[in-house]
Amino acid sequence: MASDLLSPKPALRYLSAYPETLQRQAADLLDSGRLGAWLLERHPEAHGLRTDAALYRHTEELRLAQMRQSTRLDRVLYDSKIHVVRHALGLHTRSARVQGGRLRAQHEIRIAALFRDAPLAFLRMIVAHELAHLREREHDKAFYRLCEHLEPAYHRLELEVRLYLTHLEAGGDRLWAVAESGAGA
Ligand SMILES: [Zn+2]
Repeated sequence: MASDLLSPKPALRYLSAYPETLQRQAADLLDSGRLGAWLLERHPEAHGLRTDAALYRHTEELRLAQMRQSTRLDRVLYDSKIHVVRHALGLHTRSARVQGGRLRAQHEIRIAALFRDAPLAFLRMIVAHELAHLREREHDKAFYRLCEHLEPAYHRLELEVRLYLTHLEAGGDRLWAVAESGAGA
């Protein structure tokens, strides 16, 4: 691709906000073909929450445990149309729907379908991010404080999620993918 001429390591774009030393370490792991094994060693298992119903229950449990004052979520689902770039690992939307002649706010969280097959820790980080947006719209200090409250390892996990995206971008296998049974979800 022509863009390769401008950016010698396009795979590292998910890590562009991190210090150069860290980017170099990631590049070393990637170039020596060890990044996938490194991630699997840290997170050997997938979470197994493969349906939207299971994802909804998981998200509502975390919301009720940590943000009891927030509104109930109407929908939480995996979305195969989310293209994972920059911050878009998931999306949260507020909309309004007429219900019984009145306008009612609808709260929805969509998680990139890629994370249907991922470790629980990765899912927890992304869910924490989207739940935090129920209270904080911007990616500011208050927002990240809330993310860390919801998931204490938030920053480490975000880095590991970005390392996984880097691994995939470089043509690596989906590390936690399961073979479809054919029965459908
Ligand atoms: Zn966000």
